[in-house]
Amino acid sequence: MTSTPVIRRDRQTKIVATIGPASGFRHMIRELFVAGVDVFRLNFSHGSQSDHAERYRYIRSLEGEFGRPTCVMADLQGPKLRLGTFADGPVKLEPGHLIRLDSDPTPGDRTRVHLPHPEIIEAVQTGQFLLLDDGKVRLKVVGADPDHIDAEVVAGTKLSDRKGVNLPDTLLKVSPLTAKDRDDLRFALDLGVDYVALSFVQRPEDVAEARRLVAGRAKIISKMEKPSAIHHMDELIELSDAIMVARGDLGVEMPPEEVPSLQKRLVRHCRRAGKPVIVATQMLESMISAPTPTRAEASDVATAVYDGADAVMLSAETAAGEFPGEAVRIMDRIAQRVERDPLYRTIVDAEHTDPDRTAADAITAAARQVAHTIGASCIVTYTTSGSTTLRAARERPDVKILCLTSRLETARHLSLCWGVHAIHTEDVADFPEMVKKACRMAHRDGLAVEGQRLVVTAGVPFGTPGNTNVLRIAWVED
Ligand code: PEP
Repeated sequence: MTSTPVIRRDRQTKIVATIGPASGFRHMIRELFVAGVDVFRLNFSHGSQSDHAERYRYIRSLEGEFGRPTCVMADLQGPKLRLGTFADGPVKLEPGHLIRLDSDPTPGDRTRVHLPHPEIIEAVQTGQFLLLDDGKVRLKVVGADPDHIDAEVVAGTKLSDRKGVNLPDTLLKVSPLTAKDRDDLRFALDLGVDYVALSFVQRPEDVAEARRLVAGRAKIISKMEKPSAIHHMDELIELSDAIMVARGDLGVEMPPEEVPSLQKRLVRHCRRAGKPVIVATQMLESMISAPTPTRAEASDVATAVYDGADAVMLSAETAAGEFPGEAVRIMDRIAQRVERDPLYRTIVDAEHTDPDRTAADAITAAARQVAHTIGASCIVTYTTSGSTTLRAARERPDVKILCLTSRLETARHLSLCWGVHAIHTEDVADFPEMVKKACRMAHRDGLAVEGQRLVVTAGVPFGTPGNTNVLRIAWVED
């Protein structure tokens, strides 16, 4: 019989892992959780709803076994745009070649191909670019009519059936939620997922629309993968509950050399706003087929950790790769190693943001300072909605944040958040009990030992969200 390990992470940065055919089994999901996964991502671009439902049940069953919250993200496919087909297989292209993209569904040839998206034909303008097959083929629009687009090949040598289409310069009049997404969204919300990730968000209205449909049943992550989303970066951060730097499509829609600075800007802006930010895609890509990462990949993960991102994400490495457990374990080790580096603190502190002029921010900022000065073992936050804990995490203190909450959803949501160890527990009746419980829980979960001190923050009177107004230093007694 396998024993039940205690789940406590020795790092502040969280790990998101995508579950797919390589990992969608009860024993693999358990292995990944033990190895360090804080958030499980169900990618609705692949797999059936019943696959996702089964994986969801396995993930939640861990809560009973380990007594720790789990967190599930449903990542919606969004409007994946694709070309039609070719009558005689792949066609050869060369720069200067002209090709027509039209509304005729018959298979194409070297001169024309079906583009089954009238919204693209309607929106593109002469001079704009179309990127096909993850950017391998680049077309420049030389003429746009109501039923077709004429384009010149700028780069690329070959096109085959149903290749993806990216439109970096064009604002499409489409919702980021297709009919499939709406169906998957209903399904995921009925399952009870914690986060819904929106693909190909273009503008603030897209998030507002999703929020109406989600109706408070999950938190919303906007994936930043379009130039128009980058253009609306701060509004999208404000309107979303969290952000994903989706470097795969972002690196197709924008030149690769833009991605590193955008990643840094996004992490910085999210940290300022106190919104969790995930750095995603190709982090340990070579581990899809190798048991160790390249040194460059290790460095990529480390960069996101040094920047103070809330989470780093694995996609195909855990969904379809040969070494899902190894990928999580090495990511865990890289994050731990970086966080032990004295330079890490210097870099994270260099981006420290001043508190807003609210009582809650004043208390959480003070908690960070007090914990540092007295060498406390952790900061304890009591929270209902999670907002106090998010503000504490925004401070990026040099100790763990223990969150005590009576709402299971809150404990689950905070699994994504930098530095937070959340415990779902009953509410306390008064202030002395609050302090006693904080010490007991910190001791129980190995965040503090006897004789150490904690810094406890809370809102008194209890049960009024967002009224953090008390800071207390407590000793852990046995
Ligand atoms: C990405 O493009 O980086 C991403 C995370 O989205 P997806 O995996 O859905 O393509």
